[in-house]
Amino acid sequence: MSTSSDSSPSSSKVKIIIVGAGVCGLLTAIHLERAGMDYVVIEKARTLSPLGSALSLTSAASYIFDQLGILDELAAASNPCAKIDYLRDDLSKVGIMDSGDNRGRYGYSSLLITRPTFYQILLSKVPKEKIHFGKRMIALKQDEHSVEIECQDNLDSSQDDDPNASDTIVTFKGDILIGADGAYSAVRRSLYDDMQAKGLTVPKEDLAHLRFDSNCVIGVTDVLTEEEYPVLKEKNGDFFVLIGKERAIQVYLFAFAENRLGWQICGQMDKPEEVDEKDFRFRDWTPVAADELCDMVRHFKCPYGGTVGDLMDRTPKERLSKVRLEDKYFSTWYHQRTVLMGDACHKHLPFGGQGANQAILDSVHLANQLYGIPSNSLKDVTTSFKTYYGNRSPSAKDVFKSTSLVASILSKRGFVSEVVRWLSLSHMPDFFNNMAMDAMNADRPYLCFLPPPSGKGSIKPKPQVVPVHYKGGPIAPSVTAV
Ligand SMILES: Cc1cc2nc3c(=O)[nH]c(=O)nc-3n(C[C@H](O)[C@H](O)[C@H](O)COP(=O)(O)OP(=O)(O)OC[C@H]3O[C@@H](n4cnc5c(N)ncnc54)[C@H](O)[C@@H]3O)c2cc1C
Repeated sequence: MSTSSDSSPSSSKVKIIIVGAGVCGLLTAIHLERAGMDYVVIEKARTLSPLGSALSLTSAASYIFDQLGILDELAAASNPCAKIDYLRDDLSKVGIMDSGDNRGRYGYSSLLITRPTFYQILLSKVPKEKIHFGKRMIALKQDEHSVEIECQDNLDSSQDDDPNASDTIVTFKGDILIGADGAYSAVRRSLYDDMQAKGLTVPKEDLAHLRFDSNCVIGVTDVLTEEEYPVLKEKNGDFFVLIGKERAIQVYLFAFAENRLGWQICGQMDKPEEVDEKDFRFRDWTPVAADELCDMVRHFKCPYGGTVGDLMDRTPKERLSKVRLEDKYFSTWYHQRTVLMGDACHKHLPFGGQGANQAILDSVHLANQLYGIPSNSLKDVTTSFKTYYGNRSPSAKDVFKSTSLVASILSKRGFVSEVVRWLSLSHMPDFFNNMAMDAMNADRPYLCFLPPPSGKGSIKPKPQVVPVHYKGGPIAPSVTAV
């Protein structure tokens, strides 16, 4: 059966379809809502129940949440995070990554929040009727005039990755398609197929197989008492990374505002796996048995008291998930009426805590470049996408490279690697550390169509380029012209 559904009319003449209601998709919906633009969100899951443990939001992310007026709500559900302690698995010290002065330097502290809480807050800001759950995008068609997607409909949560899950098809037609559908993006795959079918070259690296080299198990405990774990009294989001001596394995430990503890084990696989995306069936954040990885670290001492195994024993099965990890940067982000953002175009390893934060920056940049778009012509759409890519991709690529570097510093074995960790985590001069942090926090964009955020810091953000279709509104005076 095939039905058809256009996105609903609004003040803007340009109809936007967002695929994916993750960090990027939900935030983009919030931005477009504020800009008075016409959009719908298509999400394959029936309901959003992101498992997983922590997200650490950077100052740049807080800057935008402040502008949107939701920072207080996020801060109330978070703990401020000023440092990461790196320890060996016997709790001896390796070093510290200190971001204690983020507030002074960039205007906001980093915030540690559980993923489900973060998603629920974003979700609550998007009008219900704008999100179509249980629809899995499977194909796209685009030309000079419009873009159309086909989705399998009536999925239930257990079917959302099964290609034969449903034979009910629904189509959505619009002027712009935003692929915010995560690391295994169907939009990206269809976009690259579409380009190749039209005789265009997609770079070899963009078509290369996914290469998984780490496994990750994530858990969040039940609510615990402050008597059992006194760290919960501190309301402090500083976290620990335990670095395995014998194996390339790290355990991350977090204390959340809601009196739960979080743990995350990342272990390098003995043999990396290469998978062709076309054959790839991904079960993101699905609770599955992860006993093998857990057994390797159960005995590690836990800096909050007891062992890591004690936390595992207090973690209910539905708050446990296992994922395979890979990183990949794609250089093709748009063609014709389709554009990518977030993990769909740059999948980071979790070691630098950057994936969601980079997705947030993509969303702000793209919303600015779409704001004021004068028509739905391919020329105007291309101008928006080209400017978004030009402004955003260089810094996304730099952060991608630094995250890969952090990952390799943490996971390499042997004497030389110990020395590198010792130097980079405990003997890095402050000025060098600050220089790296300043570079990372220089891009603090804000929405050109809302009053600028209030947050100040001694390190000013990089001047914001005037968006390409911008025709006036509450933009700050410090911006530069294109
Ligand atoms: C273990 C781990 C720890 C992490 N820790 C951090 C951290 O501390 N800090 C940080 O910044 N980042 C972290 N990240 C990364 C972060 O989670 C991601 O970068 C971020 O979620 C990306 O957002 P996104 O919106 O691009 O994709 P996602 O959040 O993956 O959202 C994609 C959405 O699209 C939907 N979807 C997928 N395919 C389709 C389809 N065909 N049709 C319709 N809908 C579809 C999915 O169901 C999902 O809802 C971590 C990641 C992992 C794996």
